[in-house]
Amino acid sequence: MACCRIEYKPAGDLLAGRIILVTGAGDGIGRSAALSYARHGATVILLGRTTAKLEKVYDEIEAAGGAQPAIFPLNFEGATFKDYQDMAVTLEETFGRLDGLLHNAGLLGRITPFEQYDPALWEQVMQVNVNGPIWMTQALLPLLRAAPDASVIFTTSSVGRKGRAYWGAYSVSKFATEGFVQVLADEVEHEGQVRINSLNPGATRTAMRKSAYPGEDPMTLRSADDIMPTYLWLMGPDSRGHNGETFDAQPPRTT
Ligand code: NDP
Repeated sequence: MACCRIEYKPAGDLLAGRIILVTGAGDGIGRSAALSYARHGATVILLGRTTAKLEKVYDEIEAAGGAQPAIFPLNFEGATFKDYQDMAVTLEETFGRLDGLLHNAGLLGRITPFEQYDPALWEQVMQVNVNGPIWMTQALLPLLRAAPDASVIFTTSSVGRKGRAYWGAYSVSKFATEGFVQVLADEVEHEGQVRINSLNPGATRTAMRKSAYPGEDPMTLRSADDIMPTYLWLMGPDSRGHNGETFDAQPPRTT
């Protein structure tokens, strides 16, 4: 696994003219990624389940002089395959192609002994973290292929590489994510046009991290903005040629 491009200095117009969809764009890392991609020239499609949060990000992008974004409200919990197909039709009609897709939305579920894990919650986590993003990707592949150099990023975690007690569905969902990236990347490799990789943000100061580690001092963590260099590198043309790999957005913590 490759570590990080935290020192990467992106060109100001790195993503100029690119159409990039970010899931979970209303909060945490997804919000930072959407703002950062827009600041570097992209037209960003903001997808999430809480429209009010997406509208705030929309306003921030407009206020900063970025290209006019789009809002796509969608809840991975209830979304069906038909919803993803309809979405692909709408994006096709509006944009004609997709240059980037950041699968960032995620659900922690509960950190609890497996024997006490609620099956309904397990399925909810798998739906939001794995099944939804996978079927969305299938529906969007023709649009990604219509772009000259498309980058698809799935979000993984350290517990998706080595299992950890009590992390249940979340850990399993991230293992599945890493596996799916390898499968699809291998399928598209010969086309040389769409690259699919996974990215582990590492410990980052967000609401999800707070709920996983309530006793931790958040100020000891990097912010979502701090890890954006790797998110920009992997989304933009400087990472061309990388496919089927897994990356870290920041060096692992030593404490
Ligand atoms: P947050 O909880 O801060 O943000 C998660 C985002 O996902 C929110 O915008 C949330 O929407 C959205 N989301 C959750 N459920 C759904 C759903 N059913 N449908 C649509 N959108 C949904 O998490 P982070 O920013 O910390 O995490 C982002 C990604 O990074 C996740 O995939 C996470 O697993 C991963 N990660 C995070 C780490 C960290 O330390 N923060 C470490 C390793 C991995 P809403 O705002 O409406 O709730």
